[in-house]
Amino acid sequence: MAAAGDGKAMIGLLVLFVQASLYFWAMALVFRARRRLGVGVFVCCLGVMHFLETYLAAVFFIQLPFGLISPGSTVLFSGKLAMILLLYAKEDAETVRQPIYGLLLGNCLLVLLAAILRFHSPVVLPDYNADLAFIDQLGLLMIWGTLLLFADSILLILLFERLRSLIRLPVFLYFFLALAIILSVDQILFYHGLKIIAGAPTSALEGGWIAKIGAALIYSLFIAAYLRWIEPAIAPVKNAQSSGDLFDKLTYRHRYEALLKTTGIDPLTGVMDRRRLEEIGAASAARAIVRKQPLSVAIIDVDHFKDINDRYGHLVGDEVLVKIAAAIKSGIRAEDHVFRYGGEEFVVLGEAMPREAALLQAERLRSAIPAAFGDSLALAPTVSIGVATGPLDGASFLELLARADSCLYTAKREGRNRVVGSDPTQHPTSSAQPAHGLAH
Ligand code: GH3
Ligand code: MG
Ligand code: MG
Repeated sequence: MAAAGDGKAMIGLLVLFVQASLYFWAMALVFRARRRLGVGVFVCCLGVMHFLETYLAAVFFIQLPFGLISPGSTVLFSGKLAMILLLYAKEDAETVRQPIYGLLLGNCLLVLLAAILRFHSPVVLPDYNADLAFIDQLGLLMIWGTLLLFADSILLILLFERLRSLIRLPVFLYFFLALAIILSVDQILFYHGLKIIAGAPTSALEGGWIAKIGAALIYSLFIAAYLRWIEPAIAPVKNAQSSGDLFDKLTYRHRYEALLKTTGIDPLTGVMDRRRLEEIGAASAARAIVRKQPLSVAIIDVDHFKDINDRYGHLVGDEVLVKIAAAIKSGIRAEDHVFRYGGEEFVVLGEAMPREAALLQAERLRSAIPAAFGDSLALAPTVSIGVATGPLDGASFLELLARADSCLYTAKREGRNRVVGSDPTQHPTSSAQPAHGLAH
């Protein structure tokens, strides 16, 4: 009896090994040909195997001496993580995040489409025993598995890089440790999902874990063999690439920040940035001439902002800037524009705003900004504001800005926490200005 059991277990192990070898080397072949075929073929192979993998993971078990093993989890899921790590090791974060996000989005879409069909009551065909309850189970399991795969993939790569930067080990061990750790965490989380959703037996937890460690070992050996004999070398650890950088790349965050840069929005405060100021300022000045309307520019500079940073730290300094930007936005007219001009300087552009109105608005802002802090800071930040209004204070937008800046300088010199407006009688160019001589 025992011999028969051992024989069965051996066959089971052999089946798993043959499956893992077939899976790995077939995928490795497609991977190797990626320069000729395009990496899309490899990525697509990974993707299409995901559906049946979830199904197999849920229903198909092999009895081994250490428990019930699911080939779907052991061979296919672990194999997919190994492939993702190989893709990262040979390519880069920008490439590997494509299948990571593709699998997440594709699976969510598939489950959504299936859910819509389930709400629509299906025509029941006679003599056809469709197991719709199972589809429901599988849908839930796919969502859980997909979310785990997404988190696993990103953590796997971060861990792999972290290990490489911390300790010197044979290449094989980086792959093994990263895969074994992530697969262990995954096993615990996936098993609990499987138990709740599909009622998987407890013996599948430990058995599955041992099998996944075995899979990590086999796949790491395969990867090491691949890197040694088929496509040697992986990129050296990049010192410049911190975990934060890598995380940003894997999660598209740097794209988001680059996007913000090109959209002209200051990422910290959410107001427009200096580049937009130049564009909008020039356009506003041109409109002001055509419409024969005044244009006011106010530069707001936080007083002794350096002290706030020194006293409370940069992060609080950032929060202060965010709050000030919000206070400015809520203290101006809907048609006015606000920009972050420098570190702790903002510019407000008021079209069709005469000098007196601009000075009044600036005065309101000067008192509203410290008030916005209540008593959250021991000493609420104050601001100094310089105001200039075209056409009398300048013939172009840049001249207006320069005039407002020199008023700001006066405000600082006179003791800060005040508004200083340009006095057109005080500067010689003013008398030479035509009535609506604003140009850009
Ligand atoms: P003054 O009253 O003369 O304007 O004094 P100040 O300390 O505000 O002037 P200064 O221009 O010397 O200092 C501005 C400080 O703003 C220096 C810089 O470290 C800080 N700063 C610039 N950008 C940022 C930012 O994005 N976040 C934070 N927290 N601090 C910034
Ligand atoms: Mg400043
Ligand atoms: Mg300042």
